[in-house]
Amino acid sequence: MFEFKHVSFTYEKTKVLNDISFSIDNGTFAVIVGANGSGKSTILKCLLNLLPAESGEILIQGTPINQFNDWDHIGYVGQNSHQFNASVPVSVEEVVQMGQVKKIPTKTVEYWLDYVGMLPFKKSRITDLSGGQQQKVFIARALVANPKALVLDEPTVGLDAKSTHEFYNLLGDLNQKEQKTIVVVSHDVHIMDRHVTEVIEVRDGICFAGSREAYQEHHIEFCEVCGDEV
Ligand code: ADP
Repeated sequence: MFEFKHVSFTYEKTKVLNDISFSIDNGTFAVIVGANGSGKSTILKCLLNLLPAESGEILIQGTPINQFNDWDHIGYVGQNSHQFNASVPVSVEEVVQMGQVKKIPTKTVEYWLDYVGMLPFKKSRITDLSGGQQQKVFIARALVANPKALVLDEPTVGLDAKSTHEFYNLLGDLNQKEQKTIVVVSHDVHIMDRHVTEVIEVRDGICFAGSREAYQEHHIEFCEVCGDEV
């Protein structure tokens, strides 16, 4: 689905990505992890074609990113999506319709709101919901366009452990039952939910990419060497 081949990227003089290669296959549940400032957002911007790679190649579904035009196959849930102005009354169902190229049938809106467990709240104001509930609404908004992949930037920031767990269960269902490829960006290197199949860890411009099991071994070995807590 997504492939980075020897990708480098430099902001002015700071080299953030240094010859990074990884691939995220169709049907994968991948997390891109790394400390703050390690380059996760830069990878995400390259992956969404918002930043051009300085060198190397990025492919989506086998097509060079500059020629790729099926962007409605990629659903994106951003980091700050839950910052709504409380003085503007917007309902949950209106939020799901927002930003869509064409009007989405009410049945489709209701189907996905039900899927994420938010149908009873369709008339509620988005600002009256908790962070976890709002994130589910934003997932429904991404899903109504029927994407093949969902890309989420730090979706569980600010959620408590129970909501985070529930949220990963929802992503796990979308991955396993709906065959959506899931890519989550997170600064939490310990976020190794059981649904995750692949891990890409960015550190000092390079990355580790492999299965969750391989990552857990690599992470323990790495931390034993550098003295970090595991
Ligand atoms: P992360 O998402 O992992 O926190 P980023 O990709 O946002 O990391 O940033 C990686 C590095 O690039 C950081 O050192 C950051 O300060 C730097 N950086 C990010 N955006 C810019 C920019 N627009 N101009 C210059 N440096 C930037």
